[in-house]
Amino acid sequence: MSSRDVWGEWLTERGELRRQRGTERFDAILRQGRDDGLLDLASNDYLGLAQDERVVAAAREALGHYGTSASASRLVTGTLPVHRELESALARLTGQPTGLVFSTGYAANLGVLTALTGRGAQILLDAHAHASLHDAARMSRVPYATFAHNDPVALDAALAERAGSRVVVAVESIYSVLGDAAPLLELASVCDRHGALLVVDEAHGVGVAGAGRGLVRELGLAGDPRVVVTATLSKALGSQGGAVLAPAAIRDHLVNTARSFIFDTGLAPASAAAALAAVRIVEAEPGLAGRVRANAAAISAAFGTEQAAGAVQSVPMPDADTAVAACLDLRAQGVLVGCFRPPSVPDGVSRLRVTARADLSPAEVQEATRQIRAVVHRAQDVIA
Ligand code: PMP
Repeated sequence: MSSRDVWGEWLTERGELRRQRGTERFDAILRQGRDDGLLDLASNDYLGLAQDERVVAAAREALGHYGTSASASRLVTGTLPVHRELESALARLTGQPTGLVFSTGYAANLGVLTALTGRGAQILLDAHAHASLHDAARMSRVPYATFAHNDPVALDAALAERAGSRVVVAVESIYSVLGDAAPLLELASVCDRHGALLVVDEAHGVGVAGAGRGLVRELGLAGDPRVVVTATLSKALGSQGGAVLAPAAIRDHLVNTARSFIFDTGLAPASAAAALAAVRIVEAEPGLAGRVRANAAAISAAFGTEQAAGAVQSVPMPDADTAVAACLDLRAQGVLVGCFRPPSVPDGVSRLRVTARADLSPAEVQEATRQIRAVVHRAQDVIA
């Protein structure tokens, strides 16, 4: 007797629901390699360092020296000299006392929120905070809530309600989808008044804001014992991995309690070496971040919008289907832009995400924005 195919039925039902809701996602191959001739305004390689010969050579050398894997978790035999060097370099870059490297930015966010909470703690998240911070809050198994995006008054009220508990507040410095910056000074001062710890995810700030050193440092908050920074190595630093940049006592605590650090294989040495080379380039060439700003200014001028705080320009679209069609249309013309739609957008608005990479020439930016504008206008006409 054959049993009912419970799993098959369930998966079919889930697929039908996704298609009805228009939330089906695709992991289509849109790139063939570094020389595929496409104009890339979609990736997070903001400084073009993933393609930089110095970064590629550092990864190659590490492969020769260490092999392909750290081969163990950091607390067994997976801590290598390149991890330590990278941690010091990241701390120096961002002006934080210490660094601790994780295998991804996602794991860094999971580690920091789960390890710093526990009994008696609560978490408050900006309503637009990245999914990894939301997942981290859930995994922390402590009460958590969101406050209105970039609103220090709302945060103040939420903290007042939680007087007496140890509260961790988590925000991004530059938001990944909307591209706007957090009012970090105001948020830090509210946190300070209530004794809360502020975790700032600089995934889109490091390498781009503050001449590459991040928004926390630019605003003079680096080294503040109540501010913890998280970062990814997979965007402006052109590699893979994540980091927490924090006072030494917090680093020690994470080494002892952050499960996404302890029970995870150490960052691949080639990735660590690539990120280390990238950090050195960012330090030596602050003009790279300036080129991102100049390209961001040209893109916002082309769209008639306010200049984005970092590299990301968000272009709202009428609906999800139109956004997907516009992305595919642009891809057919050789231009890559990001397509974000529910459920990956915090405000439910589908949009194109256009990134101002440092290694695009002014002529390339002009050509790409001309094509993007034409496709967006066509989409809007069809809707009208
Ligand atoms: N935080 C933010 C704000 C991000 O945008 C991302 C990547 N999309 C992450 C964390 C996760 O970083 P990683 O890709 O290194 O896991």
